[in-house]
This record gives sequence, structure tokens and C-alpha cells, in this order.
Amino acid sequence: MTPTRTDLAELQRFVEPLPEHPSDPRQTLTLLDEAGSPATVASAGPRYFGFVTGGTLPIALAAGWLGMAWDQNAALPVMSPVAARLHEITRGWLVNLFGLPQTTAAAFVTGATMANVTALAAARDHQLSAAGWDVPRHGLCGAPPITVVVGERAHSTVFKALGLIGLGRDRVHRVPVDEQGRMRPELLPRVQGPMIVCAQAGEVNTGAFDPFPQIAAWAREHRAWLHIDGAFGLWALADSACRHLGHGLAEADSWATDAHKWLNVAYDSGIALVRDPAHLQRSFASVADYLPPEDGFEAMHHTPQSSQRARQIEIWAVMRSLGRSGLAELVANSCRQAHRISAALAQAGLEILNDVMLNQVLVAARDDETTQRLIATVQADGTCWCGPTKWNERTAMRISVCGWNTTDHDADRSTEAILRCAHEAGALPR
Ligand SMILES: *Cc1c(COP(=O)(O)O)cnc(C)c1O
Repeated sequence: MTPTRTDLAELQRFVEPLPEHPSDPRQTLTLLDEAGSPATVASAGPRYFGFVTGGTLPIALAAGWLGMAWDQNAALPVMSPVAARLHEITRGWLVNLFGLPQTTAAAFVTGATMANVTALAAARDHQLSAAGWDVPRHGLCGAPPITVVVGERAHSTVFKALGLIGLGRDRVHRVPVDEQGRMRPELLPRVQGPMIVCAQAGEVNTGAFDPFPQIAAWAREHRAWLHIDGAFGLWALADSACRHLGHGLAEADSWATDAHKWLNVAYDSGIALVRDPAHLQRSFASVADYLPPEDGFEAMHHTPQSSQRARQIEIWAVMRSLGRSGLAELVANSCRQAHRISAALAQAGLEILNDVMLNQVLVAARDDETTQRLIATVQADGTCWCGPTKWNERTAMRISVCGWNTTDHDADRSTEAILRCAHEAGALPR
């Protein structure tokens, strides 16, 4: 699952001065494979449950290779008609799959972090514009104050995004959450003035979704911009069995998600979705004399990037080849495996700290030290890979299933390995 000491030692082969002269490119590729491949983590494999990762579907890899060979700059339709057309098609499919308003624009960016940055910058500029302040022109110095409301369990990258766009990581109002990490809407603040509220679809530990109808009602009443971080959770809407979780989510003004997690495309691929394309344009339009306005979606005027690769190619290819039922099955399969593993571990006497409502499972032994020993034993065993987290003051082993290739057999093999490790680590009686 992870490289051995010997594998890592081979990385030393890369250490050399920049060669003076050209050499056979095949020799460089051979070195990359020989010294590089063994020093990778098997995160594309079917039993890698670390972070919230996912693998790469073969169609995503193949379409990505073709796209890379084309070397298209997706900044403007004039630079790549195919990128522009696939942008429009993919946008429409995503909007329908997630049940979002038909007007919603899509910005393809590097990941959910940048999708949060993109949407929150648009939110900031819109809210302050409504208060008579033009942020893109005048910056934030001297601007009216803006209140940012987040759930206590907002993802760390939401705070990073807020820091980047000048609103401050700590200058936020944190709303208390329930035991699954869901915002408690009755505790939303009574404040006035320009406001942004960040909710989430898919808490990174438990998979929980915030109660969107109540949060949306509050946002409407307070004229707040509602943003939803759904890095992996938004994809749950592809499966009718999970769709109830997203009730009310379409009322938001913007959403952030990842394609490189649950959709199983390669890094780096995230998507910012914004209800009104004009809001992206206000924040991201760049003006130069040699750039006449065009027909069609001009990515460089709606995203933080100018030149950009056409990430929509891989997203389109996966969506087209799986279709609605394939996308539903991708999600349903991960959820089924998460349930299968958690049920077996609970049956054997390990504690499951969350309601397994999606693809996330939090496992704990009787105390933190034993849980840590269990995690170390599982990682050393190498049948599957799970990482540590903290949940409600307790250390937990987090199992996140989002690979396209995880089968029942992988789930069972992983369960057996975890139980074997639990006995070894003293988390279960020997
Ligand atoms: C993974 C994740 C992010 C950050 O996504 P990147 O793709 O790593 O930028 C943000 N929010 C949530 C809920 C996540 O799970």
C-alpha cells in the first residue's frame, strides 16, 4: 500500500545536477518508472480508504491522455472549440445531475479548495457590491464589514479559502453542530449587513449533510449568500437512495465540489458552480485589448485562472461513459461497501462513532491509545489503508470508500484484516 524503505532509498537516483546535454527521452522515462513507480502510494487501488481519495477510472485516464496530447488552452473558445463545447455540455449534465438551477455556471478549477475560493470570492464581491462597494476595483481596504457564518465542522479548506480572499480564517461566526457535525440552524446568528453563510454537503469525517432548508430560509431572510461545500457529498445526489440528504441544497447561490474524489478522475480537478454566471464574471473578468468579447463561455473571464487545461474533458468522458445509472451505482457501491465494513466491525465489537449515512466510517477502540495502535497495525499490515482522525474528542480510524473499483471481496478482505489487526493491537480480546 505504501513504499518500503528500499523503495524510498531508490528515490536517491533522481538526485543529480541538471544534465548539460540532451539524452534519449526513453532513458528519462525508464528512470521515472524504475525509481518513481515503487515510491508511490497505492491510492488508486480498491482498498485504499485514506482521506477521501478515489482512484482514476480507465476512461478518465484515457480521455485525459488524449486531452493532454491535444495541449488545448481552455481559456477562450477561440483557443479550443472542443474545450468550449465540452464545457457547455458538461455544465448542463452536472446541473441536471445535482438538480441545480438551469442558469448555473461551472468553473473548472484545481480542486474543492479552489472551488471554495472561486465561489466565496464571487459571494464576497456580490454581497459588498449590494452594499455599494466594488471589491474588484477598490479591494477590501475601507470596505463595509461582511459577516461570514460557518458551521463548527466546516472543512479546513473553507477557512483557508476565507483567508486567501481577505475575509480572514478566524473572523467568522461559528455555528454549533450536532453529534454528526450538522449545523444547528436554530443557532444561526441574528445579525445584519452583508453576509455569507457556508454550509456543507458531506462532512469529511461522518459524511453528514447540513439541514439546507432551514439554512436557506435563514439566508433568504438575511439576504445572505449561501455557499455549499460538497467536495465529495454533492455526488451523492447521483443516487436516488441518497438524494433526500440534499433536500433544499438547490436553493444555494454557489456550490463547490471535486471530480478527483468520488467521480474518480485524475488530479487536479474541482468544480465551482455559481447560480448566476454574472457573479463569476464580476470577480474574474480580465480585460486586455487583444481579447475581444466572444460568443460562448470564456473560462478566463469566469475563473481565477487565465490559461488552463480543459479539465472538463475527463469529467465529460466519465459522465458519458457511466451514464445516470452508472453514476448512481458508483455512489451506491461506495455506500454499500462502507455499510458492509462498518456492520462487520460493529458486530465484532469495535465501536462505530458515526451514523453511516454515506461512504464514511469512523472506528474506535476503548481508548485513544488503543485506536492509534489499531491504525498503526492496519497500516503496517498493508491489506488496506485507513488514516486517523479526531471526532468529538476521540481518536478514530477513518474509512472512506470512494474508489470505483472497490468490490464486496475488497470490503470483506479489508474487514478481515482490520479485525485481525484489532486482536493484535488489543482493540479486541485475543
Ligand atoms: C477534500 C475536501 C475539500 C478540499 O478539496 P481539495 O480537492 O483537496 O482541494 C474541501 N471540502 C471537503 C468537504 C472535502 O472533503
